Amino acid sequence: MRTKADAVVIGGGIIGVAVAFYLAKKKYGQVVLVEKEPFTGAGSTTKAAGGIRAQFSTKTNIEMSMLSEKMFVEFKEETGSEALFDQVGYLFLLSDDDDVKTFTRHYELQRSLGLNVQLLKPNEIAQYAPHVRTDDIKLATFCHDDGLGDPSEFLRGYESAIRRLGVGVELECAVTGFGKAGDKLTSVRTTKGEIQTSMVINCAGAWAGEIGRMAGAEVKVEPYKRMCVTTGELDFVRPFFPMVVDVKSGLYFHKESKGLLLGWADKSVKPGFDVSSDPDYVDTIIEKALDRIPQLETAEIANQWAGLYETTPDHQAIIGYDPEVGGMFHVTGFSGHGFMHAPAAGLVSAQILSGEKPVIDVSPLSPTRFAGAVETHETNVI
Ligand SMILES: Cc1cc2nc3c(=O)[nH]c(=O)nc-3n(C[C@H](O)[C@H](O)[C@H](O)COP(=O)(O)OP(=O)(O)OC[C@H]3O[C@@H](n4cnc5c(N)ncnc54)[C@H](O)[C@@H]3O)c2cc1C
Repeated sequence: MRTKADAVVIGGGIIGVAVAFYLAKKKYGQVVLVEKEPFTGAGSTTKAAGGIRAQFSTKTNIEMSMLSEKMFVEFKEETGSEALFDQVGYLFLLSDDDDVKTFTRHYELQRSLGLNVQLLKPNEIAQYAPHVRTDDIKLATFCHDDGLGDPSEFLRGYESAIRRLGVGVELECAVTGFGKAGDKLTSVRTTKGEIQTSMVINCAGAWAGEIGRMAGAEVKVEPYKRMCVTTGELDFVRPFFPMVVDVKSGLYFHKESKGLLLGWADKSVKPGFDVSSDPDYVDTIIEKALDRIPQLETAEIANQWAGLYETTPDHQAIIGYDPEVGGMFHVTGFSGHGFMHAPAAGLVSAQILSGEKPVIDVSPLSPTRFAGAVETHETNVI
């Protein structure tokens, strides 16, 4: 392992590999990425449902997604690796008057930023998502530029590219502490040895708070368990079936192989690192799914898993230099949308770290925002 580096990236999830990729492309210097598990993606990345959407409620998140969607389309040109961004669209179903008002406001903001999002009447929904019950639906929003991707495929693409570009990738290499001179970090201590560096990039996802604590920094990220379930083959799931979000119940579903992937965020879960499968959680997902898609009555469950959302108090990412600890930069806290924001997050972080003006103004994502009253919350979180 290298014992000196210009930057050490902590965490081999989609965010860490994307940041390392753009740093390497910018010839930042010697970059080392450290991951505690035996393979990259072992944290939340390989548990993600693969949704990619620009239908958010804040300007920054919409811009991060619109840039990322372009970058997902151009991924092969950029990294040399094949990975499919299947632009089947995202469909938000609205059955509540307040949600109709809120999503109409989001729609107007999204359109003003150039997003090709549409409002759909209930009778226009079946053409995209057949067999979805619409009798209580008042309105839907749909964006064809949104869609699905396999997080592992994109992760592998970035990983091969960073290895080719000379980034040191250290697996089974857990960060255990830091060397410091005053308030400044001088080294990263790991289970494989110490790396001298003046720049540490915290991409540890749900573990970013722990990494912060080791360095004496407060990182406002908490881990929350989230579960997904997949079904066996279903004859009504066609290749064009989009991601559907039932806003009132919080259920989401999209095509997965020849069946559906079903997911839901149980908001009563307390923060913690437990990712054991919970039968009650699974039952609730199935109940909600049967209510929205009665045809699922005969479906078989193919698989189920739990992973962690890395959640901040305002459900927006943290991107920027730590205000207290010198030489520490955070790219974390994506609150359940880190896969879809990885390309833009990687690029803007590398731009800031290289002293350039980032293509998107990410100052609303600065870690300093929690010192005062938080101004903007992302409300479209699933
Ligand atoms: C069920 C579920 C569904 C989701 N669906 C979507 C979706 O549809 N779309 C979307 O965009 N996002 C989705 N997400 C969220 C997405 O998975 C995350 O936002 C994203 O993976 C965050 O990437 P990351 O690289 O920050 O974190 P991670 O992938 O968790 O990577 C962090 C890495 O840091 C490593 N690490 C931690 N501590 C240390 C240490 N001390 N030393 C060294 N390494 C360390 C971990 O092992 C881990 O590999 C979903 C998440 C879950 C759980």
